[in-house]
Amino acid sequence: MNADGRYAPSPSGPLHVGNLRTALLAWLFARSQGAKFRLRIEDLDPQRSRLEHEAGQLADLRALGLDWDGPVVRQSERRERHRQALEQLPTYPCWCTRAEIREAARAPHGGEVPYPGTCRRRKDGPGRPAAIRLDAQRASVRFTDRLHGHKEATVDDFVLWRKDDVPSYNLAVTVDDADTGIGEVVRGEDLLQTTPRQVLLQRLLGFETPSYAHVPLVLGADGRRLAKRDGDPGASPQWMAESLGLAEPGESVTPELLLSRFDPLGWRP
Ligand code: GLU
Repeated sequence: MNADGRYAPSPSGPLHVGNLRTALLAWLFARSQGAKFRLRIEDLDPQRSRLEHEAGQLADLRALGLDWDGPVVRQSERRERHRQALEQLPTYPCWCTRAEIREAARAPHGGEVPYPGTCRRRKDGPGRPAAIRLDAQRASVRFTDRLHGHKEATVDDFVLWRKDDVPSYNLAVTVDDADTGIGEVVRGEDLLQTTPRQVLLQRLLGFETPSYAHVPLVLGADGRRLAKRDGDPGASPQWMAESLGLAEPGESVTPELLLSRFDPLGWRP
């Protein structure tokens, strides 16, 4: 089985301890299976991506003792490939604003709602830029996650290309994981809800579905997830290893020691 893994940070701020712990886990899953580990910078959003954050993130990953195979891939440099994939998919332009979508779905404020299909049959729209949506035909998908078990979901018509002319996260991540031969995706639990969309794209584009492990986020003292803007609260590799059940309190650890203790089949948060 191909267990090649990756870590794919967005360079929108410094990595916090939760991001770093996810990177460590992704590295442990790949290396403990003798697989490759790749690094991809998810700099699709020109408004939020900064080169200085990218450099800082790479330095922090190295300081943690992680290493990776092959060149670091920048998503922004793969736009043509993302375009090409877009052209292979059934799509339609969509002019809806977020507010219109919420209203049409009669959903309360906040939270993401499934797209109600307003633009599916529309031939032309108002003279403003359109996003491009997948015509998903309410496809149902299944996948298995190492930690969350079997999952099944119906996929709505989601955005593949944003109205500000940027490929969507779901399109780029699916194409880039497939093109770099990723066999196992290890990432934060907050992304579990995006996986059905990616699994559908894999099916439509003829890619294999990798295996998945969505790992717990580190929560702040207030019980809420950390944001990049919170910066690094100063937690050490020792703290990360202890919180993963891989070290005793106060023990000094190296990635190699953790690797010798890590069992990809048996590890549970
Ligand atoms: N770029 C995403 C993030 O920084 C991770 C995406 C992924 O692992 O699929 O949260």
